[in-house]
Amino acid sequence: MLLEHVQGKLDALAAQSLTRFLRCADSGTAPRQRVRGPDGVSRELLMFCSNDYLGLAAHPQLRQALIEGAQRWGGGSGASPLVSGHSAAHEAVAHTLAQWYAPHIPQARALGFCTGYMANLAVVTALGDAEAELFCESLNHASLIDGARLARAKVSRYPHADVAQLDAQLAASSAKIKLIVTDAVFSMDGEIAPLPQLLALAEQHDAWLIVDDAHGFGVLGQHGRGALEHFGLCSPRIILVGTLGKAAGLAGAFVVAHDTILEYLLQSARNYIFSTASPPALEHALLSALALIEGEAGQQGRAQLQARQAQLKAGMAALLARHRRLGWYLIDSDTPVQPLVVGGNAEVMQLAARLEQAGIRVPGIRPPTVAPGTARLRITLCAAHTEADVQQLLDELAAAAQEAAA
Ligand SMILES: *Cc1c(COP(=O)(O)O)cnc(C)c1O
Repeated sequence: MLLEHVQGKLDALAAQSLTRFLRCADSGTAPRQRVRGPDGVSRELLMFCSNDYLGLAAHPQLRQALIEGAQRWGGGSGASPLVSGHSAAHEAVAHTLAQWYAPHIPQARALGFCTGYMANLAVVTALGDAEAELFCESLNHASLIDGARLARAKVSRYPHADVAQLDAQLAASSAKIKLIVTDAVFSMDGEIAPLPQLLALAEQHDAWLIVDDAHGFGVLGQHGRGALEHFGLCSPRIILVGTLGKAAGLAGAFVVAHDTILEYLLQSARNYIFSTASPPALEHALLSALALIEGEAGQQGRAQLQARQAQLKAGMAALLARHRRLGWYLIDSDTPVQPLVVGGNAEVMQLAARLEQAGIRVPGIRPPTVAPGTARLRITLCAAHTEADVQQLLDELAAAAQEAAA
């Protein structure tokens, strides 16, 4: 019965062109990566899909740090953090992050998690108790949505970037604890949330601001500290979540908040307490990643990203002006996430397949990840892309648009 039941659901997904495919890479993360096709044959593709924005995953210093970390610490952490899994390497990463955010969050303290998904669940479920109300931005990442589903708090959603509507909802709320929950950079749109306005509302309504900066960390701000640095924000009301699997080129995540909030997370976040701590060797390497983000590699990487973003936007503007009737558009984004909205599910998958035949991989993103009718190519740029790489993408998109228009 179960087999037929789930087969029926799989068939329904296929009928809507919503089946997802797991692709297998035969080489490490880099702009040119060997990836197996549906036929099982591995081919080198020019990738516009990883979130390794600064190209650190392939950095020689990170490789070396992973080796050193393994030599010093061996394999796994052996236990959850409060039992025996917390090491000096974990401590050093948390300490560095607390220092980074001291100018943005008074009395900042940091806590490490194995993934951003877990960090988001932890924050939203621990703070979103029965006395709280969560005010969730409608384009939030799945992990924030799942956190809100698990939380005991009342959950209200506000329309994308609609500060006035949020203001009204906050004013109408009688909850004892009010928590605004938002991505800093929307993962499928690349837009930056209006954080200064959201923080002003938090202050006005005695609310708190949970910010998930998965895509801003390492990328935004002069030192790569993300959206808080980008906007120059400072408030004890900010609770920051960041991931270390994207621009930091490794894996992991962190929460930074006022000491008392952090202490409460440590005491009560179930997925922190009941899950094995990350390997100390990884934390050792993360220290190097943080140094790279802050140092020259990061500075140069952020400048490179800016140049490639400008090149892609200018090229796409010219291309789309020639093919207005296709109805494609590039979402206006100042981050490395540059989505080209195509519309239909089958249409976007055909376009992605066509690019792949030409040796370029850009993932098609469909509902329910994005709203119906806004299926898109999610182009992500990285500092290791060259000008020629971006030109190659533009040329292939121009050829595809020409064909689609014909
Ligand atoms: C990737 C992502 C996460 C999850 O982080 P992981 O470390 O990959 O689990 C959370 N929020 C946003 C906005 C993301 O894009």
